[in-house]
Amino acid sequence: MKGMTVKEMAKAVNGVVYAPESFEDREVSSITIDSRKVEEDGLFIAIKGERSDGHDYIDSCFDKGALCVISEKELTNPKGAYIKVESSLQALKDLATLYRGNLTKLKVVGITGSVGKTSTKETIYSVLSTKYNTLKTLGNFNNEIGLPLTVFRIEDNTEIAVLEMGISDFNEMTRLAKIARPDIAVITNIGYCHLENLGDRDGVLKAKTEVFDYVKEGGKAILNGDDDKLATVKEVKGSKPIFFGESKENDIYADEIESLGLDGTRFKMHNLKTADGVGEIVVTCPVPGSHMVLNCLAAAAVACEFNLSSSEIIEGISNLKTIAGRNNIIKTGKLTVIDDCYNANPVSMKASIDVLAMANTRKVALLGDMFELGTEEKELHRGVGEYIKDKDIDLVLTIGDLAKNIYEGLEGAKEAHHFNTKDEFRGQMSNLIKENDSILVKASHGMHFEELVEELKNF
Ligand code: ATP
Ligand code: MG
Repeated sequence: MKGMTVKEMAKAVNGVVYAPESFEDREVSSITIDSRKVEEDGLFIAIKGERSDGHDYIDSCFDKGALCVISEKELTNPKGAYIKVESSLQALKDLATLYRGNLTKLKVVGITGSVGKTSTKETIYSVLSTKYNTLKTLGNFNNEIGLPLTVFRIEDNTEIAVLEMGISDFNEMTRLAKIARPDIAVITNIGYCHLENLGDRDGVLKAKTEVFDYVKEGGKAILNGDDDKLATVKEVKGSKPIFFGESKENDIYADEIESLGLDGTRFKMHNLKTADGVGEIVVTCPVPGSHMVLNCLAAAAVACEFNLSSSEIIEGISNLKTIAGRNNIIKTGKLTVIDDCYNANPVSMKASIDVLAMANTRKVALLGDMFELGTEEKELHRGVGEYIKDKDIDLVLTIGDLAKNIYEGLEGAKEAHHFNTKDEFRGQMSNLIKENDSILVKASHGMHFEELVEELKNF
């Protein structure tokens, strides 16, 4: 890792080096916080977690050939070089800042927003990688630990890094953005997430847009202009944001949107500034859900900033794949399961209901609690029920204390059943689910609905 010598790292983390002088100018080969993943000449950062303490594994890391260790504890008889710090977590962030700063040719796309960060990140990655050596955040590694670890995966020949940035409180984005230093900041929307810390949508806007202060000079913001809060942003780093959305007032917009059911969406994009000068293109996004139109528009806007051609954008979008837990469509032979149990909030739950409504079979929604919604949690669940009332859904099944409010929001307008626990539902599953059904499975991660997805696969 270029520039990551023991000496430079110690300086960056404000630590005290305990190492023979001959070590000071040696570069580490990799950086990890997982002792099992330590490589020859690598750096191991010992972090005290909830379940285990990295400091207990320092010896084994030296045995595996680690060049250096970062530790909060003083080591007696260390088997190699180490840097003593006050906070290993802070050191992780400081090192990521140092490493990113050294990558002067690298371009960074930072993605945030209440909903759709991962989906948008995957779409942007799929499009940019038709032309560039691109790296993306794996899964949901979007916080103050995940982002630094993602940064360390960037290689010398990486041209663009597409980084997801997730927050739940004020100042968190500042800390993430100082590390990422994005050239382009993308914000998907401002929704009702983490209101327990952020208060209301204006708070969410304020917290997310902290990223703008750290966009590199000459950089840009690419924002969902259909979002009333984001539409109020006038200027970022001296230039007007690029707005995308379905409304024609946006810089880049979509129309002629045609649903292909669970096979995706076809639509036309307008006003693209592509490298080949073709501004209007028809794309087919194979991931279902009308929200994917916005995610594809965001990706096309980013692609234009990086001089992609219209055919590269079309190819990148058509190559998209669904991901386990996120509107992943599983055809089991007997059932079509829409596995969206990775996470849930009111915006994404409504979007997934729209996906289910596209099925041309009997449609079943199996919904659970959405967590972290603050004081309005009951009303927000109820709102989902009221939303479903007008939709073409045949059967609604709710599980959990909060999800009971979804059931109540339906006010008997649909065939619906409520269960207090997953086990209560399991007892009725074979009576309620029928062959050929399409079933949406969605709840917050803590509900562990992935268990139900597995059971439905074997139905
Ligand atoms: P997390 O906070 O867990 O990282 P995220 O912001 O990364 O979430 P995704 O995982 O991309 O969000 O999407 C979650 C769900 O939200 C998807 O499965 C889909 O149902 C829905 N979704 C995706 N994109 C959008 C969008 N642009 N607008 C509304 N809903 C969306
Ligand atoms: Mg995510």
